[in-house]
Amino acid sequence: MLTTIEGFDRIGEENAFAVLARATRLADEGRDIINLGIGQPDFRTPEHIVEAAIKALRDGHHGYTPATGILPLREAVAADIARRTGAEASPENVMIVPGGKVTMFMAILMFGAPGVDILYPDPGFPIYRSMIEFTGARPVPVPIRESNDFTFSAEETLELLTPQTRLLILNSPANPTGGVTPRAEIEKLVAGLADRPDIAILSDEIYGQMTYDGAEHCSLMGFEALRDRLILLDGWSKTYAMTGWRLGYAVWPEQLIDKARKLAVNAWSCVNAPAQFAGLAALTGPQDAVRDMMREFDMRRKLVVEGLNALPGVSARTPMGAFYAFPNISATGWQAKPLASALLEEAGVAVIGGPDFGTLGEGYIRLSYANSAENIARALTRMKLFLEEPQGT
Ligand code: PLP
Repeated sequence: MLTTIEGFDRIGEENAFAVLARATRLADEGRDIINLGIGQPDFRTPEHIVEAAIKALRDGHHGYTPATGILPLREAVAADIARRTGAEASPENVMIVPGGKVTMFMAILMFGAPGVDILYPDPGFPIYRSMIEFTGARPVPVPIRESNDFTFSAEETLELLTPQTRLLILNSPANPTGGVTPRAEIEKLVAGLADRPDIAILSDEIYGQMTYDGAEHCSLMGFEALRDRLILLDGWSKTYAMTGWRLGYAVWPEQLIDKARKLAVNAWSCVNAPAQFAGLAALTGPQDAVRDMMREFDMRRKLVVEGLNALPGVSARTPMGAFYAFPNISATGWQAKPLASALLEEAGVAVIGGPDFGTLGEGYIRLSYANSAENIARALTRMKLFLEEPQGT
């Protein structure tokens, strides 16, 4: 019997992967399953990006790169941040990592320990809480309420700070709600943090380029007051449909970059070289594939919201970012997780129960609209038939 460290008794998982596995098993058994569970764009990586990786391999980029990534890529990241947010980031503070999740892992590992408080959004990406628990720190949920347009309240967040708080995790545009935090709320939060220079901020902006109807994505990078303690999490997975490439980046503040670099050297040495060249082509090449994808997501978003609001007992706000809808299902008489299972097993539609994203997710389910408009329409029809059927008969 092997005894591992205690953290493994507390670590969780993303239930989206379990739902995907179950949906795949059902499909293998011949069932027609429509997957609205998984958070990955249903698009191919644009061709010029794929070609750049192939070329890198042909050109002999087969060895280690610097631990923080190749310089042209870090420069391109800095230029992209400047173009999108107006903020100056030094390529020296940029770190290329194997997926956005890795930045989360590193930041939480850097601060988490017994006796420490870490604030995270609830409902939110499940890995925040899982990693906090792994380290033995106390997870402190920041409520994300539908009544507050699915964003945090700066006032409420500041009230949750204790002398033990070391890290505050923010995520906008948000998974699972699609909420986008307005600039005014962020300004209030930044002002309130002025007297707590001992608190680091991890801003997860992986959906930063995915907003709709002109909603502004307000990057934390734009706030000079936070720059010496802000960790920016971003990457290519969602914007360029590159989830399987495992490519992300962070911008670390001066006081943490060397620690981050040492972690990388200890753990993965560097991100695989061809993927880095692909990332470079993504940032410096044409952006029309991103625009086309967002137009398609926007169309589906309207379809999903309209369809959900026509279901008995369901009401859905219009998400302003990412590619998720988070409808309120409390008037259906169902609890969220049993409803998600029944929809999969009986109606052949994979969605995720809100409680998989935190305790405040009860009463909601998450639908990803990373599936064709045709499949979304079919899924909504199935959900309608299912919810109209008297249950327990
Ligand atoms: N952050 C959020 C909020 C996400 O939803 C995801 C993926 O679903 C990630 C980070 C992880 O991104 P990556 O696939 O680049 O690790």
